[in-house]
Amino acid sequence: MIDPFGRSITYLRVSVTDRCDFRCVYCMAEDMTFLPKADVLSLEELERLCSAFVRRGVRKLRLTGGEPLVRKNVMSLFRGLGRHLDSGALDELTLTTNGSQLEKYAADLAAIGVRRVNVSMDTLDPAKFRELTRWGDLDQVMRGLDAAQRAGLAVKINAVALRGTNDAEFPELIRWSHGRGMDLVLIEVMPMGDIGGDARLDQYLPLSLARQQLARDFTLEETDYRTGGPARYFRVAETGGRLGFITPLTHNFCESCNRVRLTCTGTLYMCLGQEDAADLRAPLRASESDDQLDAAITAAIARKPKGHDFVIDRRTHGPAVPRHMSVTGG
Ligand code: SAM
Ligand code: SF4
Repeated sequence: MIDPFGRSITYLRVSVTDRCDFRCVYCMAEDMTFLPKADVLSLEELERLCSAFVRRGVRKLRLTGGEPLVRKNVMSLFRGLGRHLDSGALDELTLTTNGSQLEKYAADLAAIGVRRVNVSMDTLDPAKFRELTRWGDLDQVMRGLDAAQRAGLAVKINAVALRGTNDAEFPELIRWSHGRGMDLVLIEVMPMGDIGGDARLDQYLPLSLARQQLARDFTLEETDYRTGGPARYFRVAETGGRLGFITPLTHNFCESCNRVRLTCTGTLYMCLGQEDAADLRAPLRASESDDQLDAAITAAIARKPKGHDFVIDRRTHGPAVPRHMSVTGG
């Protein structure tokens, strides 16, 4: 699949549920309304959709959410998709998780062929963790991390950079994650979905600034290491570990975008930061053959936009897109 700007689409992210057992302040409002269950694709339908993308050239699949591991029987989807790893059609099957269910599932995931997992953790302070996630328990996530590493999964920690909340903790987060052999990636907060009031403007911390501050304590060496995602990585000389920055606002990375995103209702978003989307549920359900589905996928890729238009400043701090991150998945 090649888009109009010559970019080869080889990476599909799938939000398998919009539900979550946390309510992170930058991601969701406390009183979220979730999709009616009837609108959500069955796991079998999701598997068929993902498999169609694999047949069309997708080499990397990431399951995300909401929280992917709270979807009932989600392991059967992982197992079904794991078959594409065995056949060589897929290079990587992975997930982004808040870690709350990893203790339970890490060994199964590893057995299915998952090699890496991204775990979101913004702070090492249990009280602050509870404040930020509203419902999360840091101890439970720590047990999940232990289980993941015991199972041999490579772990990458994702932390959203939140001004005045966790920025003072970045040095500690770097030492802690690198000390455990985990990469750390800092993410700029993106204006997605209404989270109440003017919270975004207060939250937003440009990572260009964070990097300058970190350069006082650490030697950040440029690398060309890539994982197929948008992060730019540095090697921290003092720890020997990798530190990534995802900077959709201060450094636009759209020119190298290789991905599209599927929601749990079968809507395909060709860009995280744009509204245009293609419904794949109707063609999926219209027939047992994949012909209509294939045609819909081809038409969608032909409309992939050049990039997003995220801005957060004093005049523009409402959501750039009305949907929450948990709909399209991070
Ligand atoms: N529940 C899983 C988790 O938290 O890892 C997967 C879904 S979550 C939406 C994926 C990633 O998006 C997480 O790392 C989360 O921190 C990040 N995220 C959520 N809302 C965001 C926002 N407004 N801006 C930037 N990152 C966000
Ligand atoms: Fe849930 Fe992940 Fe959003 Fe937090 S960031 S509320 S864990 S989906």
